[in-house]
Amino acid sequence: RRWYSGRHVVVGGTGVTGAAVTRALREVGARVTVFDRVDSPALAALADSGVDVLVDPAELPGDLEQIVVSPGFRPDHPLLAGPLAAGIEVFSEPELAWRLRPNDTPWLTVTGTNGKTTTVTMLATILRSAGLRATAVGNIGTPLIDAVLAGSDSGSEPYDVLAVELSSYQLHWSSTLAPAAAALLNLADDHLSWHGDFARYAAAKAKLWHSPETVAVGNIGDARVAELLAAAPGRRVGFSLHTPASGQFGVVEDLLVDRAFTPDPAQATAVGTLGEIRPPGPHNVANALAAAALARSHGVDPAAVAAGLAAYQPEPHRNALVATRGGVAWVDDSKATNPHAAEASLRGYPRVVWVAGGQLKGVDVAPLVATVADRLAGAVLLGVDRAEVADALRRHAPHVPVREVSRADDGAMTEVVAAAAELARPGDTVLLAPAAASLDMFPSYAARGHAFAEAVEKLAAASPLDG
Ligand code: ADP
Repeated sequence: RRWYSGRHVVVGGTGVTGAAVTRALREVGARVTVFDRVDSPALAALADSGVDVLVDPAELPGDLEQIVVSPGFRPDHPLLAGPLAAGIEVFSEPELAWRLRPNDTPWLTVTGTNGKTTTVTMLATILRSAGLRATAVGNIGTPLIDAVLAGSDSGSEPYDVLAVELSSYQLHWSSTLAPAAAALLNLADDHLSWHGDFARYAAAKAKLWHSPETVAVGNIGDARVAELLAAAPGRRVGFSLHTPASGQFGVVEDLLVDRAFTPDPAQATAVGTLGEIRPPGPHNVANALAAAALARSHGVDPAAVAAGLAAYQPEPHRNALVATRGGVAWVDDSKATNPHAAEASLRGYPRVVWVAGGQLKGVDVAPLVATVADRLAGAVLLGVDRAEVADALRRHAPHVPVREVSRADDGAMTEVVAAAAELARPGDTVLLAPAAASLDMFPSYAARGHAFAEAVEKLAAASPLDG
């Protein structure tokens, strides 16, 4: 913390996190210059509050000593290329929060391609049900730095423990961060266009396990995770959906069990019941096992873990049932923004009219289509990359009727829902699991899910006999 006094730090990106970072840096006495696009509204607000602002990367201050970037910045960004080549330290907010943390509040972290938010909110629920002051922070939307500094002023009390969601971007831009325990849920192709290739994406995720002080919790049902876990330098705790070996978490009959943090490793302790895991489905049982392992590593007793898992309420837009009409279930899994997530939800239903498409982010959707072809009763495609999905369907699921919606305006989702209603028969599920990001058409995956639910409600209102 003392290092920062009088140092010149550039903050790249002025979103909610950038503003929190700026506040924190000024509190420890740094000179801060913020960088963003000219038209960023937050930039103007920061300038008004007396912070130096920069919009042209060519005008970086000469006495610059460190850059804290919003995790979306790529290493080849014009702001970073020069400083990186010159050996100036660049990292993102979680790393700064780690360096500035005023106390030893342990961090229990979650990363992986899919299931992060679900797992971290499950974990926070468990920790609170054990009577701890805990909160879910990080990539989930609340800046870590605010939670870390809570208690350093008189206004707020410090947390006992933090449940931290970390993205691959945030991990790319971190170096010394060493959580008490860190879970890696799964590794699938996602964000490849950002990281360059899979090896670098995996390397970013595995960074979390660099310290022997960190308990490494990893999904051994995922071959890529299992391989990284075997190389972790600290204590290793694997989990899978099968009967656990000693030192692992797993499933026995209808119970989630711990064979790692039990006094006698020959014994298995129940930490939850399959029937109480929501939303249902194997991938979410894996999330629950990861949350349970992190909580147990922190000493939470098995009964409190089970109580927390049973109390957990799923997040919106993650396999949420929107309506059932004429025997057709309409399900919003807008959060399925890559093929790996979409596969997890498609596997939950026997006959699906699949609503898919958006921004594929450079990921190949064909393997997913080939895997789920026999469940598809129809497909309705939207978004910029819909032709790629259509092509995969032609090649791997030629029996599936496909409708494409080319408009991208406010009425697009109404057309999507109408097309899906035509394809669906009683017993089918119409599943919005786009396997793609939403940003080509919507402000967020949540807005996409809302638009879907709204269009379904309108349709239901227009055909009241169907109830
Ligand atoms: P993240 O925060 O990593 O994006 P979420 O918990 O928000 O993950 O879930 C994102 C999507 O991934 C959901 O649509 C859900 O159906 C799917 N999903 C959740 N957990 C898993 C998992 N363990 N493996 C694969 N897909 C998953």
